[in-house]
Amino acid sequence: MPAILGKKIIVVGGGAAGLMAALAAANNGAQVKVLERMNRVGKKILATGNGRCNFTNISSNIERYYHGKNPRFVYGALNKFNVQQTMEYFEYLGIAAKVEEGGKVYPMSDQSSSVLDVLRYQLEKLHVTTVTDAEVENIHVSEGEFIVDTKEKGRFISQRLILATGGKSYPNLGSNGSGYQLAKNLGHRLVEPFPALVQVKLAEKFYKQIKGIKFVGDLEVVVNEKTIIKATGEILFTEYGISGPPVLAVSRKVNEMLRSNKKVYLKPVILKQFTPGQLEQMLLYRFQTQPQKTLAFSFVGLINKQLAPVLLKEAGIKDINKPAGDVTASEIKQIVSILQDWRLKATGTKGWNSAQVTAGGVDVQDVNPKTMESKLVPGLFFAGELLDIDGDCGGFNLQWAWSSGYVAGENAAVL
Ligand SMILES: Cc1cc2nc3c(=O)[nH]c(=O)nc-3n(C[C@H](O)[C@H](O)[C@H](O)COP(=O)(O)OP(=O)(O)OC[C@H]3O[C@@H](n4cnc5c(N)ncnc54)[C@H](O)[C@@H]3O)c2cc1C
Repeated sequence: MPAILGKKIIVVGGGAAGLMAALAAANNGAQVKVLERMNRVGKKILATGNGRCNFTNISSNIERYYHGKNPRFVYGALNKFNVQQTMEYFEYLGIAAKVEEGGKVYPMSDQSSSVLDVLRYQLEKLHVTTVTDAEVENIHVSEGEFIVDTKEKGRFISQRLILATGGKSYPNLGSNGSGYQLAKNLGHRLVEPFPALVQVKLAEKFYKQIKGIKFVGDLEVVVNEKTIIKATGEILFTEYGISGPPVLAVSRKVNEMLRSNKKVYLKPVILKQFTPGQLEQMLLYRFQTQPQKTLAFSFVGLINKQLAPVLLKEAGIKDINKPAGDVTASEIKQIVSILQDWRLKATGTKGWNSAQVTAGGVDVQDVNPKTMESKLVPGLFFAGELLDIDGDCGGFNLQWAWSSGYVAGENAAVL
């Protein structure tokens, strides 16, 4: 008796979501082909987590995705293939996991290449074909079949199609945004994509002077004199503005506000461990015990010494080299205010080459959250960052890729 062959499924995009979708589909008996525009699959996986792949987070919950137009959409897939199941599946593939600060999960090997290696091993084991250097340019549906045209490798035909082409961030790793047009051509709406988890550009002119300076503090985003989001961690000044984990964490909000023409200020809180009153007393003590030191020099040992001249000028102190003992009470208040209530004007963010994640994408209103199937084109499924879903920094974006990929793959094979 001839073997009963499963459905023919094409997965467009061999990133985290596409590879997981391919495995889930093949596991359910489908004949799966992955079409990938780059010369190998999974290039972005290699770059994740600074080469260590922060592949999930044990504290994943819907709030970590509370960004897009309809973040509740993540609920179905995250429930169906949750963090525990993801970790078990990767353990089965060979990835021993370790949990680090903030619930971030990494492979014990500290190598993102291990994640890709075991995925590729499993793809081979389940007879999934991968076709690289195959950029999909056009998809149309004819008599219930998907006709898929690639730039380099000709035409492919399947009964089901999974679109997992990623967003627009880091186009050098493959995701060049071409999936949006493919989805649009098939009738789907788009929420305009913009960079998220990205460095912020600031207006002031002094950043060249202080580039490279780091400090641990709070970073608040202030709009109309209200703090709308806050993050803590190591903040780094750069030539164009500001970077570091707290900056990435607030960057989506910054971009969102700028896009709605709001004036946006970043407020780095330096020496956040002190109240303004304590800081005032501390400065007074420093200035009184060593009154002959220049004002700028009297900050040595308290904050980064290159930062002091800039902060003093920002505080409106005209002569930063006057003796510390000559500083007036109102000047001390001005200095404290700059240390803890500094306002830096945001002008934008870095672009697609620097953004770790794409906000916006295929409108999830057109997709069934339980199956990841299109509501408009039966047999078409979506997975990963291509959709208008983005998570916080810390493993949540890859978790979304695994969960949505798994659900799309399984349903494409069985529905
Ligand atoms: C530098 C960096 C570090 C990151 N670190 C982390 C981290 O540690 N933890 C975390 O959770 N998230 C991290 N992220 C985010 C995470 O990598 C992504 O959210 C995730 O990889 C998205 O998976 P995806 O499969 O949806 O898209 P992608 O990984 O972008 O994959 C899409 C694939 O589709 C292919 N493709 C696109 N268009 C076509 C086409 N027309 N035809 C054929 N193929 C096509 C692309 O070449 C690509 O291989 C990081 C991102 C970057 C850039």
